[in-house]
Amino acid sequence: MILDAGPLALALLAAAAAGAGVYAAWRRLVRRARRDPAQAGESGRDALTGLPQQADFEEELRAAVHRAEDEGGAFTVLCIGLDAFDLLNAAYGRNAGDHVLRAIAQRIVEMRHEGLPIARLGGTEFGLTVAGDIAQGRLAAQALLNHFAQPLDVGAQSIRVSCSIGLANYPRHGARPRLVGQATMAMRVAREGGGGSHAEYEPRMEADQREQAELARDLRSALDRGELMLYYQPKVDARSLQITAAEALLRWQHPTRGIVSPTVFVPIAERHGLIGSIGNWVLEEATRQAAEWRASGLRMRVAINVSAYQMRQDDFTKRLATLLAQHHLRPERFTCEITETVAMEDTQTTQRAFERLGQLGVHVSIDDFGTGHSSLALLRRLPAAELKIDRAFVTDLGRSADALAVAKAVVQLAHTLDLRVVAEGVETELQRDHLLALGCDELQGFLFAKPMSAKALALWATNETGYAHPTFRASLFGDTETTPAGL
Ligand code: C2E
Ligand code: MG
Ligand code: MG
Repeated sequence: MILDAGPLALALLAAAAAGAGVYAAWRRLVRRARRDPAQAGESGRDALTGLPQQADFEEELRAAVHRAEDEGGAFTVLCIGLDAFDLLNAAYGRNAGDHVLRAIAQRIVEMRHEGLPIARLGGTEFGLTVAGDIAQGRLAAQALLNHFAQPLDVGAQSIRVSCSIGLANYPRHGARPRLVGQATMAMRVAREGGGGSHAEYEPRMEADQREQAELARDLRSALDRGELMLYYQPKVDARSLQITAAEALLRWQHPTRGIVSPTVFVPIAERHGLIGSIGNWVLEEATRQAAEWRASGLRMRVAINVSAYQMRQDDFTKRLATLLAQHHLRPERFTCEITETVAMEDTQTTQRAFERLGQLGVHVSIDDFGTGHSSLALLRRLPAAELKIDRAFVTDLGRSADALAVAKAVVQLAHTLDLRVVAEGVETELQRDHLLALGCDELQGFLFAKPMSAKALALWATNETGYAHPTFRASLFGDTETTPAGL
């Protein structure tokens, strides 16, 4: 922000002459100049929304803190981030994206509190400061969320926008230099929790962030150091208990932390742009393993989990096709599991990826079904062959009528659409019996086998460890109901 030295210097001299402390007078004048847009000038405004930018926001925040120090008072900084803006742009185009950004800016201007800063902090992030304690900050956040719960009219389209909001309060959460960072951190936590909500800054978030940064740093070299591996968990035919497939599940053997779960490091890999190379490695390793098993006579599908990032990669299907051909594997013997949330992204990129997978002829499975919002029309169009009922419903079978109703509905829906149903996370005989009664086709879970190394799976399947169910043995080396000969 540029200060006009002339009038300020004169005013300063006048204040000094009037007997005020020179420093205090200087500070007051500087603060006033910073608050006064006429003096501050219009430079540094964001071209799209007309809002001030981050540097001005920080300056004005500094002034607000000084005022609060001098006069008392509190305020909350809200960092408002648009969720999945890249998807919105991909689905509706950049003009619609710009329209949404301007609509958010407009709402923020309407909610502005006198003398407190607002800004476009970055591409899809905005700052709003509201006077009062954290409770007032929460009310403002909720008002914003309610506002954006209503669809926005953009030309002929009606677009639903989702935001995540992080809050940091002065003086509750500390000094000015960190308020924006704290609010931004809280916004990310809200977004990672699924978005469309608000979260308040907590000191523990910093420790979490430090840990995530360390994991991201280590993950960069994990592939080169050979620390990633695939475990495999069998899916079995519900009635014959014969093995139908083995799902590849990533594991990271961290040098000091031990085995790290994919639920921890896959989201980090996604955020730090590492999921592309990790996903490619999974493809290479799973196809290599499938070929090795086939060569030793094991007849079962091999399944991999495909990330949202891979579905948006132009060359994903081509890469898969090349690897399948290289290893002489039939595409219909290879499964790609894609979560319901990703499958239901009605964007051209995702739907094109499905088309290409369909053309290639791989077995497509919709994972974690029941947790997202499915469009029946879209589901019918997908070249899917399998639905996996999410573990949450399986876990609650037998103790929740709702879970039973969902599982029943999923089985009926799947069969109507000519899809096979796999229930994942089967841990008890009671759950297995319910699923059998509902007509589930395949089961997967600790009741049958935990994920294990490729070597352990082969040993387990051939009964060399002595604890495998005998029916698996024959199924692996002979033809099964669901995996006819000639893999
Ligand atoms: P998912 O694909 O739905 O995999 C099922 C998860 O449930 C696995 O966790 C599996 O170990 C666990 N599970 C299976 N049966 C049981 C059971 O009876 N009880 C309980 N409590 N859990 C069971 P895991 O291996 O930690 O993987 C978690 C998620 O990480 C996977 O969910 C998948 O979404 C993701 N993931 C794993 N490997 C990959 C990968 O190679 N690429 C990508 N993009 N994501 C992966
Ligand atoms: Mg899966
Ligand atoms: Mg799943």
